[in-house]
This record gives sequence, C-alpha cells and structure tokens, in this order.
Amino acid sequence: MMTGAEMGDKGRRRMATEAIHAGEVHDASGAHISPIYQTSTFTFADMAAVEARAAGESDAYMYSRGGNPGRTALASKLAALEGGGAADVSAEIFASGMSAISAALMGLAKAGDHIVTQQVLYGSADHLISDVLTGFGVSNSRVAGLVPDALERELEQHPETTVVYLETPANPTMAVIDIAATVEIAHAAGARVVVDNTFATPVLQRPLDLGADVVVHSTTKFINGHGTVIGGAVISNDEALMTDEIASLIRYTGGVPSPFDCWLTNLGLKTLPLRMRQHSSNGMAVAQFLEGHPAVAATSYPGLASHPQHDLASRQMDGFGALIAFDLGSYEAASRFLERLELCSLAVSLGNVDTLIEHPASMTHAVVPPEEREASGITDGLIRISVGLEDAADIIADLDQALRV
Ligand SMILES: *Cc1c(COP(=O)(O)O)cnc(C)c1O
Repeated sequence: MMTGAEMGDKGRRRMATEAIHAGEVHDASGAHISPIYQTSTFTFADMAAVEARAAGESDAYMYSRGGNPGRTALASKLAALEGGGAADVSAEIFASGMSAISAALMGLAKAGDHIVTQQVLYGSADHLISDVLTGFGVSNSRVAGLVPDALERELEQHPETTVVYLETPANPTMAVIDIAATVEIAHAAGARVVVDNTFATPVLQRPLDLGADVVVHSTTKFINGHGTVIGGAVISNDEALMTDEIASLIRYTGGVPSPFDCWLTNLGLKTLPLRMRQHSSNGMAVAQFLEGHPAVAATSYPGLASHPQHDLASRQMDGFGALIAFDLGSYEAASRFLERLELCSLAVSLGNVDTLIEHPASMTHAVVPPEEREASGITDGLIRISVGLEDAADIIADLDQALRV
C-alpha cells in the first residue's frame, strides 16, 4: 500500500507534504496557521482597485458567496491531492456533499439530456437523480455495477447521455466499479464521467488520473475526518467546464460553506494521508476478524481475496479503506448485535476518527423500496461499519462481545 508517494515522480511534493502545506494562507499578520476570514464582504481601497478587479487584472475578493480566502485555501489543497500533482486541476468547495453533487450534475446535464448510473447510490444522490432532476427534463437509467457490455448497450440506446455517474466502492455494498473501463466507454459515446470519491479519498484512489472528468466529495466524511462539519467539493481538470458550468453554480445556487467550516475541514485534511493509512490497516484487521467469525454470514471488503472485484480494487486503489459491509443473516441478529455495542457508535455517516456502525435497510437506505433493496444486496441482516482509528484490538473486542450469542 502507498500513501501517494509516487506523486514525487511528477516533480511535485508528495501527498503527505501537500496535505499539510498546499493552499495555506500566510497573510501580513504573520499568523502561522491560516486565519479564519469571518466576513461577508471585502473592502476596496479606491475605484482603481474596483476597476482592476472588473478588468480581470486582480483576483481580489469582493463578497463571500463568490469567494473567501479560507475556501480558496481548502480548494487548493484538495485540488493538489486529487490532481496528483497536475497543475490544471481546480476545485470548488460547497456547503455539503449534496450541494457539490447537484452542481456537478446541473452543470453537465440540461433539459433533454440523460444520466446513466449504477443501481444503488448514496440515498440522497439517488433521489436527486431519480426524483429531482427528472422534474427539470433530465432523464436517467441504471446499469447494475456499470458492467462494461451493459453500459455500452445502454449508451447506444441513450445517445442523449451527457453524464455517467458512479460511486466506487459503492455504498453500502462495497461493490467496486472499474473507473478506467467506464471512462473509455463513456468518452467513446460522448459522455462525461463523474465519480463520487468519498469512500476512497484521493489518498486511496485518484479518478482524474484514470480519465474521469469530475470528482465529487462529501468532505463531511474522511476529508474533514472528525465529524464536525457538513461539506462538499467538486474537482476537475477541465478548466472551462469548471469555470463556465460547475464551480460557477455556487454563485447562483448559493450552497456556500462558512469560513469556519472551511477552516475546520482544512485542518482535518492535513492528516488525511496518515489517517487513511491507519483506517486501511484497521479496516483489514476488522474485515479478517469478521470473515472468520461463525456468526457472520458474509463479509464484503475490497481488500479481502474473497471480494468479487478484489483484483480490480488492487489495481485501482492504493489501499482498501475503512468501510466494510457484513451480513448477520436477519434483522433480529443485526439489531441484537447493534444494541450490544459499547465502544462503537450506532450512527450514520462515516470517515470519522471513531468507529461508526449503521443498519442500511432501516437507516441510510430506508427510502429504497424493499424489492430494490433485496435485489441490490441490502438485506435486513446487512450492517455497514466505518472502522475508526481506535486500536484495532479494542474495536475487534467490542465487535466480538456484541456477536456473542
Ligand atoms: C455522505 C455522502 C454524500 C452526501 O454528502 P453530504 O455531505 O451529507 O451532503 C454523498 N456521497 C457519499 C458517498 C456519501 O457518503
């Protein structure tokens, strides 16, 4: 497993260094840590400064919906990590992951256009595509797992497709989708590829390097890492697309993050490479424990040799992360287990320093109709765990005592 070390061969600093130093604001006060610019508007010294800005000769801040130094700092850091050292990558920070996903999809799909995506998505993204964008004339269809042959056929049937949208590893089943293969097929059909990289983060997976056009994040999760902020981001190496269609939407839809939220997220992001390394190592230890436990009917973790796309995950990812899905066979077994946990918390969300466990069928995916849940592997006994940074032995001890019958 690596930590972005090969970024070094592109003549740039390595990922752990970029995470700490990229984008940091060092203003005239001499403050060592980037200040929080808690202000709605910015003053101009004179009309010459106003004119210079209007003429594009200065990028002075004017109003915090359009931009704020702390937001720029966070965007620069995230672009440096997600772009793997490429200079043409830019990012915009939004008030939530959903705000970022909305901007990416609204920027790429207009009335009459079509979106192709996988069968199971993050619940609110699913609803956005199925029930909100359809009201604006954007249709959609699903291809389970975005399997290449089936995707090719779907795109032939829908030449009006402008976006192929995917999440990998997929929530909550941990199925893995081939990003490079999806990109090849989508681009041949004239569609762009948007990847939700929330589960893997740029430390473990860099979709832009694999040819994707746009990456979206819920920064609420690993990027912030401490469970203190709801936030999102869009990152792309297509400057015109970002400037004209996606990042600019933050102005008009107004999903602007607060300066304090940007500051907290920037602080968390500094330790992302270190945290993801430990999340992956704890994740593997917990997955192996679950797979070997007689009360666990099935364990899905891309790092296990038993995972159906383990080889693909090994090629596509630089580590397997913290998310594991496992099945206890019934709702009764699942709820008994969840109620007995002592160290781990019963809560939705993921990517925090502490271990969070949830029951998808009754929590994150309760809105998905039961037949669809069953078809996509979200059984009543399925549990999703986001393995935290506690000592792995203590996490396993808690799971072990909760699994005891
Ligand atoms: C949480 C999450 C989102 C939505 O992000 P918010 O910050 O809650 O708006 C989108 N995609 C995935 C994979 C998520 O886990």
